Amino acid sequence: MGLPEITERVETAARKAGRDPADIQLIAVSKVQPLARVEAVLTAGHRVFGENRVQEAQGKWPEFKDRFDGIDLHLIGPLQSNKTRPAVELFDAIHTVDRTKLARRLADHAQELGRSPDIFVQVNTGDEGQKAGCALPDVDALVAECRALDLPLKGLMCIPPVDEEPSLHFALLAKLAARNGLTGLSMGMSRDFESAIAQGATHIRVGSAIFGDRVPG
Ligand SMILES: *Cc1c(COP(=O)(O)O)cnc(C)c1O
Repeated sequence: MGLPEITERVETAARKAGRDPADIQLIAVSKVQPLARVEAVLTAGHRVFGENRVQEAQGKWPEFKDRFDGIDLHLIGPLQSNKTRPAVELFDAIHTVDRTKLARRLADHAQELGRSPDIFVQVNTGDEGQKAGCALPDVDALVAECRALDLPLKGLMCIPPVDEEPSLHFALLAKLAARNGLTGLSMGMSRDFESAIAQGATHIRVGSAIFGDRVPG
């Protein structure tokens, strides 16, 4: 696989769904990947990347940002309250806002720093006990809270349970977004991004299919 093939598959899936491929952002998830692989994708001209840990991103991206213009960096992993400030400083979008306290802290930093990343509310669509994400009954209130705080809320995000049919979760997320007047849908990974595109994904998060398997440890 690799970037050219994935780009082509995104375009094909978009056309099949009657959508403009330009409406789908391919976030190349570079967590844990060797820097040489990330650099190769940057050199190929790709600029949208995702990381799931603030600290790991801090060690990698400031230097890439010095060397490559126009990098668009997305946080797609859980955000701890004590990491909100560096997250607002480094990222252009945060996909994992799942509680009011977090939204409030992000709004405080946005005011203080004069900039805010785009915001997605992460929804625990599978109602999984240990999983991050806002519980389904709390989504509308959290969306309203983000709006009241003037955060640039773009949409909703989900990670379907590994053992369930992802398209059901994508459809549910799309429904929740529509009900809340949101157009952004961050959903779909290496194994299911085509299905996510069919269900309206605007941001797909693809790691191993672009970079190869993550080296464990
Ligand atoms: C790692 C990760 C991805 C990418 O996973 P792949 O299966 O490698 O495409 C997408 N979304 C989130 C939230 C992730 O943590």
